[in-house]
Amino acid sequence: GGNGFAFFEAHMQAGVREQVELARDLRAALAGEAGNGRLALHYQPKIATAEGEVTGVEALLRWNHPLRGAISPVVFIPVAERFGLIMPLGDWVIAESCRQIAVWREAGLQMRVAINLSMQQLRQPEALVRRFETALAQHGVDARYLTCEITESVAMDDASATERSLQRLAELGLSLSIDDFGTGYSSLAYLRRLPVSQLKIDRSFIQDLESSADARAIVKAVIELAHALGLQVVAEGVETEGQAEVLRGKRCDKLQGFLFARPMPADELTRWATSVPD
Ligand code: C2E
Ligand code: CA
Ligand code: CA
Ligand code: CA
Repeated sequence: GGNGFAFFEAHMQAGVREQVELARDLRAALAGEAGNGRLALHYQPKIATAEGEVTGVEALLRWNHPLRGAISPVVFIPVAERFGLIMPLGDWVIAESCRQIAVWREAGLQMRVAINLSMQQLRQPEALVRRFETALAQHGVDARYLTCEITESVAMDDASATERSLQRLAELGLSLSIDDFGTGYSSLAYLRRLPVSQLKIDRSFIQDLESSADARAIVKAVIELAHALGLQVVAEGVETEGQAEVLRGKRCDKLQGFLFARPMPADELTRWATSVPD
């Protein structure tokens, strides 16, 4: 049951040899070689808390392996990072997102797409920015339709290349969002120096909202402080109406989670977005 990843995930953690094989298959899939499965992006809506409207989607990478079936990104992203495949994989995600934004635009849908970036992509500012410029130009897409999600730990990386990447992406017109907020040790004072416009509160806090007064206090404080700094707040992993109710009461700007929709293929998202009643 569930997402069908669980067995392979548990199995993976043991085997270095498996990782080597996965890296080989992933390289072949990236090269478009037949028989190595297909990469795809699935899209999960972010819902404006007040209006209930879809304001954009997060793109989540999927790999359907020919023998093993669907493999979780939690498994294959670290493999890509370890075996030098994260740059080409990240490039594919950037290009595919821009292509899809253009497809939606043709269909009359103005959809903003948030993509996840790895630390290693940010370590090469010039290459990364060039890749975004090329993909945006190729599909005639305005940069404001793209958001980059970077985890809190990546944002706190004080390497000058990382900071430079974030500055350059913001100059290009992309929005930046801090993912999994609350799991690291960042201070909002430090984050304020970065050209960030959005915080995503980590799912672990959302999960505990109904049972824990501490979680409610933390979420309330994060939302108030973020708003005072002019940042937008998204709650990730919202699964119950009770959680959504608490978040609405605390004026969280956007909600994302299985309560509203799971990540889905582009055509399904199109039907979903165009059938939501006003
Ligand atoms: P993330 O960026 O924190 O993404 C959110 C994860 O939570 C996704 O898992 C999503 O399917 C899942 N999720 C969404 N709503 C709910 C909910 O209500 N309940 C629960 N339990 N889970 C929910 P997914 O798709 O398996 O992705 C896992 C991680 O893999 C992502 O975490 C991200 O760190 C990474 N990832 C995915 N796609 C990419 C990519 O294109 N590039 C990079 N670098 N990393 C990616
Ligand atoms: Ca994310
Ligand atoms: Ca997240
Ligand atoms: Ca998370």
